[in-house]
Amino acid sequence: MFLKSIVIKLLNFIYPPKCYLCSADIASEGLCSECFPKLQVAYKHYCHMCGIELKVGDRCLGCQAKPKNFNSVSYCFVYSPEVFKLIGGFKNNDKTYMAKFLSSFMIKKVNESGLANKIDIIIPVPIHYAKLIKRKYNHTGLLAKEIAKHFNKPFRVDVLQKTKKTADQMTLGSDKRLKNIKGAFNIKKNHLQLLKDKNILLVDDVLTTGATINECAKVLKRAGCSRVHVLCFARVDGILKV
Ligand SMILES: [Zn+2]
Ligand SMILES: [Zn+2]
Repeated sequence: MFLKSIVIKLLNFIYPPKCYLCSADIASEGLCSECFPKLQVAYKHYCHMCGIELKVGDRCLGCQAKPKNFNSVSYCFVYSPEVFKLIGGFKNNDKTYMAKFLSSFMIKKVNESGLANKIDIIIPVPIHYAKLIKRKYNHTGLLAKEIAKHFNKPFRVDVLQKTKKTADQMTLGSDKRLKNIKGAFNIKKNHLQLLKDKNILLVDDVLTTGATINECAKVLKRAGCSRVHVLCFARVDGILKV
């Protein structure tokens, strides 16, 4: 362990890590001191169910009137151009090593929100097989795996599957997103026993309209899960469209 840390220090000296956003030389993996403050941390107080900023109470009027299929939402940052660049680099450019840095904020969030004692299994929002072949990895799966490892919880990437090929949600309006994602997910039949009465931590990268996580939660609940808690790296500001 001691030798490993010396080797890492030496390598960092010879090849200094670059800031994930501006490529400036930095002391350790992540963001430089100029870029990090540009990330807007999640609101101090937000609706437990959908994440919108709240002044009082723990559930917004929208969620009181229309509950979602999931039971709670936690997130680390408010979506911004910096988050767009960060996540874009992580998911499209083979920068799988970024998972450790990005997931560290999500782990902190799990600790802060007391979720660790409320979850049994950690599951990432899946991507379609065709996309997996193209991209080679599910970036959300890498985040979920790090979180599961940290909390010593079962990580299951094989339970929830995306069986329908869909257009990228980011390119669609809110009405089309709902239609696009409907019926896109499935549970493998031999995993129904595993999910029965379990509390799930569903991990996603960016929460936009909520259509994807709501559909995933619907399928998980139908399969017998008790509760579905959603954890995202960032949330797009505004009201969810589910
Ligand atoms: Zn930077
Ligand atoms: Zn709400």
